[in-house]
Amino acid sequence: MKALIAEPTKAYRQLLETVCHAVGFKPLFFTNTSEALQHLSLHPVDLVLTSLQLLDNDGINFCKKIRELKDTKHIPVVLLTAEKNKTIEEPATQAGITEIFHKSDIPRLQTYLSELISRASTYNNMDARVLYVEDSLSVAKLTIHILEAMGLDIDHFTHAEHAYEAFQTTDYDLVLTDIFLAGNMSGVGLVRAIRSTEGNKIHIPVLTMSAQDDSARKIELLNCGANDYVAKPILKEELMARVHNLITNKKLLDKLKAQQHLLQELAMTDQLTELYNRHFLMEIAPKHISEAFRHKQPLSLIVIDLDNFKTVNDTHGHSAGDIVLTQTARLLKTTCRNEDIAARFGGEEFVLILRHCDAESARKKAEVLRMKIADLNPEGIAVSASFGVAELPLDSVCKFDVLFSAADHAVYEAKARGRNCVVIGKVSAPEMGTQ
Ligand code: GH3
Ligand code: MG
Ligand code: MG
Ligand code: MG
Repeated sequence: MKALIAEPTKAYRQLLETVCHAVGFKPLFFTNTSEALQHLSLHPVDLVLTSLQLLDNDGINFCKKIRELKDTKHIPVVLLTAEKNKTIEEPATQAGITEIFHKSDIPRLQTYLSELISRASTYNNMDARVLYVEDSLSVAKLTIHILEAMGLDIDHFTHAEHAYEAFQTTDYDLVLTDIFLAGNMSGVGLVRAIRSTEGNKIHIPVLTMSAQDDSARKIELLNCGANDYVAKPILKEELMARVHNLITNKKLLDKLKAQQHLLQELAMTDQLTELYNRHFLMEIAPKHISEAFRHKQPLSLIVIDLDNFKTVNDTHGHSAGDIVLTQTARLLKTTCRNEDIAARFGGEEFVLILRHCDAESARKKAEVLRMKIADLNPEGIAVSASFGVAELPLDSVCKFDVLFSAADHAVYEAKARGRNCVVIGKVSAPEMGTQ
């Protein structure tokens, strides 16, 4: 990046040269503002640094002249002054000075320059996909040129209808749309359609643009869901800044949502077996029970406890025990239907909630699982499990802990009968409670 520097003293010029080289700016020095302006009109730069005192002018007037030139009016102009008083702030701001730094505050100036460098590099290396709707091909050509230079992938449409079709099937990071378009759907119509889409796409940022820069239209656009507005003719720097901000925010939000999702998954998953954990089971079970009761649909619970698991650990080691648990869990998961809940309740104990399933079907299911576990032979180790089944009574309200304890008692009974078998438990009347 290039910086034009208007500075009369040689020693300070040398200092600025060192600072510029340190951060990656190429400095071009001038002591005379008319030569500097002539250079700027032919070769615009990325930044102007000017001293307040100049040989033929002052920095504030110099800035006013820069702001009058078509190609330079948007370049940041930094005023460097040795004066400490605040009286120059107002005229400097009015003249369009971007920043004022004290000449002795080199660290601050250096930070500012580094930020410009890093901003330019992020602006040029954006990895994002933009849906762009513009019916004027000449405007589109210019805009696409700017956006592609930022590293963006652009899908351009001249009609909002076609753009909306693409919007529904492709993942975009930004929608940029003209307001007045050929075809039946306007840019406002497109914004409304996007904001009434189901699912995550509803939040995709929308930047609108129009040659009619009136405030009523801007307010209407913002109210119907546009995130931002840019006036035509497009100012390259403004478009880049708005596009960059919207995409950056969108990506941050995406990251946050992904982290939230991961945290939710972690909070409800047992780390060893990747089944649901006890915490999740205790949360979801009462919901399924109320739903089954309300719709009078059968629901059964199966409690599974591995037999003599302590001996498995003692004989083959704890890690072999872990593999037995993991493979048993995988078997439960693959044998269950998607709508069933399979959870690790604790140590070597698992719970299944089977919706739309009465005790007899649950018993059959348990029997299948019992045989599969007996055939599993993880790590060559013979394992078996005892099963307790309980069906939710639909004639009176029953809490989860009551249903669970019926299935758990059935497991005890299965152990007493010699293990590796299935027992159906009964929810006894005194155990029923209110939900
Ligand atoms: P029973 O047939 O009566 O159920 O006997 P058991 O040996 O299976 O029952 P017990 O409750 O005496 O032992 C359960 C064992 O499970 C004891 C414990 O060390 C082991 N265990 C609990 N959690 C884990 C785990 O995460 N990994 C391993 N490897 N073992 C575990
Ligand atoms: Mg148009
Ligand atoms: Mg146990
Ligand atoms: Mg056990």
